[in-house]
Amino acid sequence: MTNTFRPIAADRLPALLAAMPKAELHIHIEGSLEPELIFALSQRNGIAIPYAGVEELRRAYAFTNLQSFLDIYYAGASVLITAQDFYDMAWAYLRKAAADNVARAEIFFDPQTHTARGVDMATVIDGLHRACADAQKQLGVSAALILCFLRHLSEEDAFQTLEQAQPFLDKIIGVGLDSSEVGHPPEKFARVFARCRALGLHLVAHAGEEGPPAYVWSALDVLKVERIDHGVQSVRDAALMQRLARDRIPLTVCPLSNQKLCVFPDLQHHNLGRLLEAGLVATVNSDDPAYFGGYINENFTQTFAATGLGATQAYQLARNSFEGSFGDATQKQQLIDRLDEVFAKFE
Ligand SMILES: [Zn+2]
Repeated sequence: MTNTFRPIAADRLPALLAAMPKAELHIHIEGSLEPELIFALSQRNGIAIPYAGVEELRRAYAFTNLQSFLDIYYAGASVLITAQDFYDMAWAYLRKAAADNVARAEIFFDPQTHTARGVDMATVIDGLHRACADAQKQLGVSAALILCFLRHLSEEDAFQTLEQAQPFLDKIIGVGLDSSEVGHPPEKFARVFARCRALGLHLVAHAGEEGPPAYVWSALDVLKVERIDHGVQSVRDAALMQRLARDRIPLTVCPLSNQKLCVFPDLQHHNLGRLLEAGLVATVNSDDPAYFGGYINENFTQTFAATGLGATQAYQLARNSFEGSFGDATQKQQLIDRLDEVFAKFE
């Protein structure tokens, strides 16, 4: 179903984008660590980081590609030690998400970044899961966790990670695949994804961010994922675009991330509008908001301002985010009803 809306005045569009309820389906919780919290945790835990202060760290956020970002991202995550640290990080994100009218958040975390430093899986999941539970009670945000395997590491390492997560599978809804894409195709993780599928976990994977359409094909056909994270390179393959539209495979697109990591020359040339026109279930997300210059509403307002998208696309994107979420059918319908109410007020 596609709704069309009477044109909403350009000056009211930012308010609509902010007010509409939405789901965030592509947020790496370690990528929400703001420099202020990195320094607070580094003091609390007595861990030195190689930057003199908040401003110097922020200035280092001038990335040229995915790898240049990942190097700083892993340095930032090194200050996380206790369950309370993980709680504080997730809580800071969830408060921002609530302020942006995120009604549902499906949050990625990278346990290998922490277990490799000697932090237990239990510590990581305990802190994050407590924050998600409190978000439901105190903020009215439905939040769930997706464990991501780091694709630059081996499948053997991913299997060990799954083994460590086994006692906590009731606290996660699925698994994903992230980190350095090029040179690490999805099929490298075929067996561990098959195992996760047998365990009843939801499956997603980053594909087609910098990597070729072939990686999106193998994420779908070999890993059997239900959503593609990023996927913006799919436009280079007409047959793939048809497949994504036909099977209603959601793409979790992250415009400010794509801009910062030079996937597109600028936001004006972002292909979000093209993905929607092709009938894809595209969504807007923040990826690593502390590093890429904005949370989800900032992604919406900047992208709409740069590309000239309007209320019809705003509605479609928000609706897609609920359709693409892993919430149950009742929750999805409730959230779509809330979306309709907000749009009715603006018409
Ligand atoms: Zn990502």
